Amino acid sequence: DADLSRNTANFAALTPLDFIARAAAVYGDNLAVVYGALRRNWRDTYARTRRLASALARAGVVRGDVVATLMPNTPAMIEAHFGVPMAGAVLSALNTRLDTSTMIYMLRHSQAKVLVLDAEFVAHAMEIAQACPALKLIVDAVPGTAATAQPDGWKDYEDFLDGGDPEYAWLRPTDEWEAIALNYTSGTTGQPKGVVLHHRGACLSALSIVVDWDLPRHPVYLWTLPLFHCNGWSCAWAVAARAGVNVCLRRVDANAILDLIQAERVTHYCGAPIVHAMLADTIEARHDSWRRDTAHRVHAMVAGAAPSPTLIGRLDALGFELTHAYGLTETYGPAAICAPHASWTALDAAERTAKTARQGVAYQLQLGMSVRDPETLELVPADGATIGELMFRGNLCMKGYLRNPEATQKALKDGWFHTGDLAVTMPDGYVQIKDRNKDIIISGGENISSIDVENALYQHPAVGAVAVVAMPDEKWGEVPCAFVETRPGAAVSAAELIDHCRTRLAGFKMPKAIWFSELPKTSTGKIQKNELRAIVAAMQSA
Ligand code: ADP
Repeated sequence: DADLSRNTANFAALTPLDFIARAAAVYGDNLAVVYGALRRNWRDTYARTRRLASALARAGVVRGDVVATLMPNTPAMIEAHFGVPMAGAVLSALNTRLDTSTMIYMLRHSQAKVLVLDAEFVAHAMEIAQACPALKLIVDAVPGTAATAQPDGWKDYEDFLDGGDPEYAWLRPTDEWEAIALNYTSGTTGQPKGVVLHHRGACLSALSIVVDWDLPRHPVYLWTLPLFHCNGWSCAWAVAARAGVNVCLRRVDANAILDLIQAERVTHYCGAPIVHAMLADTIEARHDSWRRDTAHRVHAMVAGAAPSPTLIGRLDALGFELTHAYGLTETYGPAAICAPHASWTALDAAERTAKTARQGVAYQLQLGMSVRDPETLELVPADGATIGELMFRGNLCMKGYLRNPEATQKALKDGWFHTGDLAVTMPDGYVQIKDRNKDIIISGGENISSIDVENALYQHPAVGAVAVVAMPDEKWGEVPCAFVETRPGAAVSAAELIDHCRTRLAGFKMPKAIWFSELPKTSTGKIQKNELRAIVAAMQSA
C-alpha cells in the first residue's frame, strides 16, 4: 500500500468532547444528570455546555486560557468538563478543601482568567477576588446552597449560560496534544505542581475506563469521587461516551450514598479505600435490609491508595463487584488495573483477595508499564521479590508540569515517567506496589514495605484505618510504628495488636510502637504520612 496516502485530511484530533456531541445526537432523550429533584437529558446537557463555551468566548476567553472551578460534584461541575474545553480553554479544577492561600497560589501560577464557583465557596472567593483582581467570577447557586450575598460584578451561572448560544460551534482542538486540563498535585513537599494533560490522553483515558472497567451502555454512575480529583479519573468523559447517567453528590455521606444506590439504581461508583471502608462499616452497622433490597449489581472501583486484602474481602462479601486500579495525577488518574481472570473465582477467598490487592497491568490504551532499576533502567526479574521503580510510558502520561521544566525533566527522564512508587513484578506479570519511595522503611539494611505491615494490622477486626511509618531508631536506623484508627464501637489495646502481628509478620517487620488516633487524611481520603512522621519526630525530640 506504499502508494496510498494516510489520508490524514479526514482525521480528527482525538478529544473526549466528541462523546457528548454523540450522546446528545444518538441518545438525546436519555437521562444525563440527576441532582436531587433535578433531571436533565443529554440533549439539554449538551446545549448547556455549548452555552457555557459560547458565554466564556464572549467573556474574552480564548484558546489556551485557563478556566478554574471551585465546585463539588454538582451538575455545573459536569458541564465544566465539557463547556470549558469547548471554548478552547484548559480546565483547572481546584480541590475545594484546600486553604485559600494555596488556591490563590494555583490561580496565579496558572494565570487563570475565570473562576466558576459554587455558592458554598463565596467566602473563599471574596479573599481570592482581592488577591486576583483580574479574575472573572461566576457563581453557581444551585438548590442546596444557602443563598449568599455576592459582591457586585460577579455573574450568576444561570444568567451567564443564558447569554451563551446553545448552537455554538465549539472549538475543536487543532491538535490532539493541546491541553485540556491542569491538575495540581497536593504538594506535600514544596509548592504544588501543575500537571498538564492533553485531549488525546483524556480521550484514551476515558475509553480505557470503558474498556478496562467494562463500562456498559447507559451506566448509572454515582459521583462519590471528587471531579476535582484527576477529573474524576476521567469518568465524566467516560460516562458521556456510554450515554450514562451522572448522579451528582455534594458531599460524601455513607447513608446518603447507600440510599442513592437504591433509589437511582446506581451501577458504578469510584473511591479511595477509605470511602469503600466507610460504606462497608455503614452497611454492616445498619442491620437493615439494604443488602437484600439491592438486587442489582454495583460495580465499585478502588484506587488512590492500596486497598488491603481485608477490605477487598469485606466488599466481596457484601456483594460489590470490585475493580482495583492504580495511577497518579500525572497519568490521568488510574492507568493500571488488576485485570481479573475467571479462574480466580475458583480460588479460596484469601487467595482471591491477595490477587486482587495487586495493582496489576497497564490499561490497554496506556501500553508501557514496567518495574525497573531507577539507575540502570533494567527490568527487575518477575520474581515477586526484587524491588524496582514503577514506570510508565505510552498514551496516558502528562505533557509535563506547567512552568516547571526542572521537575518535568526529572519526572520524564530517559523517556519514562517515574512514578516514585516501589514495586515488584509477580511471575504472572502483575505488578504489586510495595511502597512510595519516601514511605519505605529501611531497618537494619532491610526494606520493610509499610503496606505489608498495614495489611497485617487490617486483619484485626477492630482496625478501621492504619498507617505505618518509619520511626528513627539508634540501633536499626528506622523501625516501623503504627497509627491506628479503630472501627466504630470497637476497642483493642496496643499489646493485643502486637500479639496479633506476631504470627503474621517477620520479627524485623513488627511495629515497635502503636498509637491510637484519628488519622490525618487528604480530601480524597489518603492518609497523610508526612504529618504522622512529623508527629513521630516531635515525640522523639520531646
Ligand atoms: P492522586 O491525586 O491520583 O491520588 P497522586 O498523584 O496524589 O494521585 O497520588 C498517586 C499515588 O497514590 C501513587 O503514586 C501511589 O503511591 C498511590 N496510589 C494510587 N493508587 C494506588 C493503588 N491502587 N495502590 C497503591 N497505591 C496507590
